[in-house]
Amino acid sequence: MDSFFIGGIIFLCILSVHYRFLTIKGSITAFFTGLFIFLSFGWKGLIILGLFFLTSSLLTKWKKKQKQDGEACEEERYGRTAGQVLANGGVALAAAIFHLFLKDSVWLVVFVSAFAAAMADTWASEIGILSKKQPFHIKEWRKVDKGLSGAVSWLGTFAAIAGAAIIGTSCYYLYQLESVHMIILIIFAGFIGNMADTFLGAWFEQRFYCSVCKKETEAAFHCKTKTVKVYGFSWFTNNIVNFLCTLIGGIIGGGFYLWLIH
Ligand SMILES: [Zn+2]
Repeated sequence: MDSFFIGGIIFLCILSVHYRFLTIKGSITAFFTGLFIFLSFGWKGLIILGLFFLTSSLLTKWKKKQKQDGEACEEERYGRTAGQVLANGGVALAAAIFHLFLKDSVWLVVFVSAFAAAMADTWASEIGILSKKQPFHIKEWRKVDKGLSGAVSWLGTFAAIAGAAIIGTSCYYLYQLESVHMIILIIFAGFIGNMADTFLGAWFEQRFYCSVCKKETEAAFHCKTKTVKVYGFSWFTNNIVNFLCTLIGGIIGGGFYLWLIH
């Protein structure tokens, strides 16, 4: 039975390269993430991972033309890289390894909370960007162009809650939890992780200005021209922000679980 699931993970990784959801290195990283999650949390863990991976891959491809800003970089054309896989799944992978050796249920909560945060963040950005209204920037306290880090919209906020809620309710049914407190905790952890992502992105991610179309962007090239940096740190990449988002989600979920439920 184990070889059936492991074979399934390999098959999906190959398929992901074929459909350009993942690069080859991204796919190898995803394989080890899937393997440890399976060894530690069984097929139920794979369902949580699958929910995140499937919905985020499809959302990224959905209305892609409408979302595109600047020239598509390598990552966008060939799928998610190993760095992007670890940014979204690294905390969950670490939780799976800890759970494998320590067997404490808190690591399961850290695992699902990290995915709830990754889910909330991906749903918020991929759906929020389609909002018809201009989003509001939490640091600059004004309306900005769509797609910038630190910008929030009602649509994005609802999408974040919906994304985290899918992970929360799936856990409730998968693990036949007796109380709804766990669903609320997982949604809360996911949402806080997503908020941390927004705040960190607003303060530290790089912002550029395109002199051709007079728009602010996060792309180094826009309208076939090199853009001018406005602020931000070059080392504070989107992967670091996403990793911190899942880490904070995991810590909030695991922390409150130990404090209130365990
Ligand atoms: Zn431009």
